[in-house]
Amino acid sequence: MKSLPYFCRGEVIRGFGRGSKELGIPTANFSDSVVDNLPADISTGIYYGWACVGNGDVHKMVMSIGWNPYYKNTKKSMETHVIHTFKEDFYGEVLSVVMVGYIRPERSYDSLEALIAAINNDIEEAKVNLELAEHLKLREDNFFTSTSSTGLATTTTTTASTSQTIMNGH
Ligand code: ADP
Ligand code: MG
Repeated sequence: MKSLPYFCRGEVIRGFGRGSKELGIPTANFSDSVVDNLPADISTGIYYGWACVGNGDVHKMVMSIGWNPYYKNTKKSMETHVIHTFKEDFYGEVLSVVMVGYIRPERSYDSLEALIAAINNDIEEAKVNLELAEHLKLREDNFFTSTSSTGLATTTTTTASTSQTIMNGH
């Protein structure tokens, strides 16, 4: 996928209550503006990368991009599980992410246990892959420290830069 690494940020909105949190794997849903900007070559499936809430610390993440059942599968959703335990929910805050790599396509599971096991495998794969030097350096990217990560008003500006000067998705 030529669009990777893919940088984006936007507001965390309420999802459609699939109960991810009850499974122990909450997923922060991006607003439509972020989803609508996704390049065509970013296919549905599971990705890994780095994420930051507001101007907080940068953590590892896994993200699912899928067809949103709430919109009768005509619209995509982007749901990020940040690999960190937060004290509070962060609905309405700005989530900044860089998608670094692709893990696998979406699929359905016969049981909740199988689904949870698959997600936990994804999390382990993300943790290991992100330790590669080429991925670690993205955690330090200006994108995560630029002032635009502190407010929504500037989410459409492109103030971040990377060593590869890849700017996209925000
Ligand atoms: P929803 O259907 O509204 O997305 P979830 O059960 O998926 O509900 O919970 C997602 C919410 O949980 C996020 O929007 C965020 O506010 C909160 N949250 C707390 N910890 C995390 C985390 N580690 N990763 C993602 N979201 C988290
Ligand atoms: Mg969710």
